[in-house]
Amino acid sequence: MKILVNDGIEPIGKKLLEEAGFEVDMNKIEQSDLMTRLNEYDAICVRSATKVRKDLIDVCPNLKAIGRGGVGLDNIDVEHAGSKGIAVINTPAASSRSVGELAMAHMLTLARFLHQSNREMPANGDTKFNDLKKAYAKGYELEGKTLGIIGLGRIGQETARTALGMGMTILAYDPYVDEATVSVGHVSLGFKHTIRTVPMQELLSGSDFISLHIPSVDKPVLGREEFSSMKDGVFVVNCSRGGTIDEDALIEALNSGKVAGAGLDVFENEPTPRKDLLSHPKVSLTPHIGASTEEAQNKIGEELAQRMIAALRGN
Ligand code: NAD
Repeated sequence: MKILVNDGIEPIGKKLLEEAGFEVDMNKIEQSDLMTRLNEYDAICVRSATKVRKDLIDVCPNLKAIGRGGVGLDNIDVEHAGSKGIAVINTPAASSRSVGELAMAHMLTLARFLHQSNREMPANGDTKFNDLKKAYAKGYELEGKTLGIIGLGRIGQETARTALGMGMTILAYDPYVDEATVSVGHVSLGFKHTIRTVPMQELLSGSDFISLHIPSVDKPVLGREEFSSMKDGVFVVNCSRGGTIDEDALIEALNSGKVAGAGLDVFENEPTPRKDLLSHPKVSLTPHIGASTEEAQNKIGEELAQRMIAALRGN
């Protein structure tokens, strides 16, 4: 069987597919030429660039599987593929660790003012060293603090594992999950811990840090009402999706001091987030890089290859 890998795959993914006996073509075919050429292949692997829409699917009766390296399936007509018996595969678990670690990085940054210090030191570190030393002297340790995790799925659990390893207490809210057992620490030295979810109100009022790990939502999960229920001086982190936090309400809460700092990887208006949020001194910022690590990319290649092999072999 021949697989077209049109937007690239990590070497480990190519190796696994070839070892399983598939012919892998890594030569990109332009979108406009796919209509006439994709039918030469049994399957296609894409990232976000190549679109596999209804019209393309309809002219490829040989197609047996469509693989998407990553999570989102916006570039594939999933239902239509399903109606033709074509398997659609993605790699939802591959980036969980990377996103969880980025959430922790934002928490550590906020707790020790790294976001502010990194902005100030290049400009004033040589002339106002002692002033800056004083300004950033009242940091916090994460150990002993309570982390509220909204959304106890794959990434929420990874974040919980890391936070537990740092000595934090977890409060989790997820309307669809009652409990989750996570392995904490090194595989050979670690321990298992079961997290039972609590009502949202308990999380909001009891957490020193709150981290969001939920899918896209129609209405923000954190708005004015939720901010008002939080502890004074809480830190809020969002590495999930833009739109899960009401950004107007967040800025108000930052300005009033209710929220001491926010760590944001995702924004309502990507790729042009609002300037007042980007320039807010209490915000630690990253440009939607949660899944962007070498390890996650390797895991995407590996998971995609394994799932493609299983689908094409019919198991
Ligand atoms: P998942 O499906 O494993 O977990 C999501 C959890 O959220 C589920 O347990 C679900 O029950 C829960 N949930 C749904 N609605 C909820 C609500 N209103 N309140 C509380 N919980 C709710 O997904 P995941 O793999 O953990 O991904 C979580 C989020 O992270 C997704 O939005 C995903 O798009 C995002 N993500 C971001 C990056 C990045 O680069 N920053 C990378 C990958 C994924």
